[in-house]
Amino acid sequence: MSPHSLLILPGDGIGPEVMAEVRKVIDWIGAKRDVSFDVSEDLVGGAAYDAHGTPLHDDTMARAQEVDAVLLGAVGGPKYDDLDFSVKPERGLLRLRKEMDLFANLRPAQCFDALADFSSLKKDIVAGLDIVIVRELTSGVYFGEPRGIFEEGNERVGINTQRYTESEIDRIARAAFELARKRSGKVCSMEKANVMESGILWREVTQHIHDADYPDVELSHMYADNGAMQLVRAPKQFDVILTDNLFGDILSDCAAMLTGSLGMLPSASLGAPMANGRPRALYEPVHGSAPDIAGQGKANPIACILSFAMALRYSFDMGGDAARVEAAVEKVLADGMRTGDLLGAEGGQASLTSEMGDAIVGAL
Ligand code: ATP
Ligand code: MG
Repeated sequence: MSPHSLLILPGDGIGPEVMAEVRKVIDWIGAKRDVSFDVSEDLVGGAAYDAHGTPLHDDTMARAQEVDAVLLGAVGGPKYDDLDFSVKPERGLLRLRKEMDLFANLRPAQCFDALADFSSLKKDIVAGLDIVIVRELTSGVYFGEPRGIFEEGNERVGINTQRYTESEIDRIARAAFELARKRSGKVCSMEKANVMESGILWREVTQHIHDADYPDVELSHMYADNGAMQLVRAPKQFDVILTDNLFGDILSDCAAMLTGSLGMLPSASLGAPMANGRPRALYEPVHGSAPDIAGQGKANPIACILSFAMALRYSFDMGGDAARVEAAVEKVLADGMRTGDLLGAEGGQASLTSEMGDAIVGAL
C-alpha cells in the first residue's frame, strides 16, 4: 500500500504525553497491517514559540498542507499567558484551521458501555450512545460583518452578524450527508428557521442538496432549542446532527457531557477534498493542555488515541482498523482500567498514561 502521510504536532502540556501513547498505536497498526505510515513530527503552540518565536513555523504550515492528515495534541499553558496575542499558542492552531480551510468540525459523542454509569445522565439514556455533531466552523455569527461595539446615540451597542452564504451551507451539508452514508444514513439538521433568516436559508439549502444528491439519506429538521432538549432527553434518537457554528459550539459541549470525561473525546476538522479525493484534515482531542496535571504522566490518552482512530476512518480509508482501535479502548475500560479522570466518587486505583497506552496496544 502507498504511504499514508501523517504530521504529528504534540504541542504543549499533556499533548506530548498523550501523543507518546498514540505513537504506540500507530506503530502497532503499521507493523501488523500492510500499511506504511509516513510519520513526521513538528512543533506547535508554546513549544514552537520557544523554538522559533512563532506558534507555527511556515515550514510546519506548508507540511500540514501536504500531508493526508494532521494529528495535534494540545496547545497553551500558563507559561504563555502573558505573550502578545499575535504569538499566543492558540494562534498556531487557529492558523492551521484557517489556512487549511477546515470548515467541518466533527465531534463524536460515544458512550462506552463500561463508562455508562460514570456519565452525568441516567444509564439507560446514554448506554450505547454513538452520535456525531457536524458543526460549521468557519462562518456564522462568530465571523459575520458588521461586528463590533459602536456608539449609538448616547449609549454603546454590541453587534455580531449571523451570516451564511448558500455555498457555505452547501459544503457543510454535503459533509454531513457523506458522513451519514458511512454511518446509519440519518441526518438531523438544527437551526432556528422560525426566527432567523439564516435558518430559513439553511433549511432550504440543506433540503435541496438532500433531494438532489443524497435522497438515500434520511433528513429531518429541528429547531436548535428543541434539539438541545432532545439531546439531553433522548440522545439516541440521533445519528448525525448538522448545525451551524454557534449552535454547534453549544450542542457539542452539551453532547460531550453525555459521555463522561473530557479525556475521552476526539474530534476532527475537515476541509475541501485534496487531489486524492479525501478531505484536508486535522484531528485533535477536545481537551486542552491540562496544565494542572501536565508532566505527571497521568493524563488520559484515550481522546487522542480515538482522534487517531478518526484519522484512520476519514483520512486513510481504514474504517476496519478504526473500529479495532475503538474496540481495544472498549476492552480495557471493560477490564476496569481507569486513568484518574475516569475514577468516580468511589475512587479506586488510577492507571498512568503509559499504562493505559500499553493496555490498549495489548488489547489490539
Ligand atoms: P485549554 O485552555 O488548553 O483548553 P483548560 O484548562 O481550559 O485548557 P483542559 O486542558 O481541557 O482545559 O482541562 C480541563 C480539565 O480537564 C482540567 O482539570 C484537566 O486536568 C482535565 N483534563 C483535560 N484533559 C484531560 C485528560 N486527557 N486526562 C485527564 N484529565 C484531563
Ligand atoms: Mg479550555
